[in-house]
Amino acid sequence: MTLGALPQTVEVRTLAAREVALAGVVDPARLTRLSTAIVAVNNPVVVNADFYRDEEARYVLALQVSAEVLVTCQRCLSTLEQTVTSETQLAVVWTDEQAGQLPPRYEPLVADAEIELWEVVEDELLLALPTFSYHSDADCGSKTGVQAPVRENEAESQASPEKDNPFSVLKTLKGDTNS
Ligand SMILES: [Zn+2]
Repeated sequence: MTLGALPQTVEVRTLAAREVALAGVVDPARLTRLSTAIVAVNNPVVVNADFYRDEEARYVLALQVSAEVLVTCQRCLSTLEQTVTSETQLAVVWTDEQAGQLPPRYEPLVADAEIELWEVVEDELLLALPTFSYHSDADCGSKTGVQAPVRENEAESQASPEKDNPFSVLKTLKGDTNS
């Protein structure tokens, strides 16, 4: 199934009154705030947006967002892939005061006519990102943390005979160039 691009801006109350359901993708290159928070977004961000009016006539946007992102492992500092998902019920309000009166199941979306749907998607992804990311124990450090010390040890064991062997000094004194 190939999804088209999600509209960048929508008339949120109009769509809610018509009970429109949108599914689409957002090009991660357009989500600049997200790009600065992580290493990369691997694929287009997949979005399902259902607009409807609830039983108390609120305009609601039920938003499902999913993205595959590359983040930095805080233990070994190499990258790891994570799927970030978010499911939110956003109630459209006119003012901050109305936002404060919403039932707890809703997040407020303060809007006049149009909303920047891509920005709402980006906000939800930023909220859903884990603060710290780690590989699983088996995978962590497989690129740097384990191999690097082994290479160091090999280098030491190759270097030390020359450095510590007292006979190497004698060879130098005798002018032996065959070693
Ligand atoms: Zn790691």
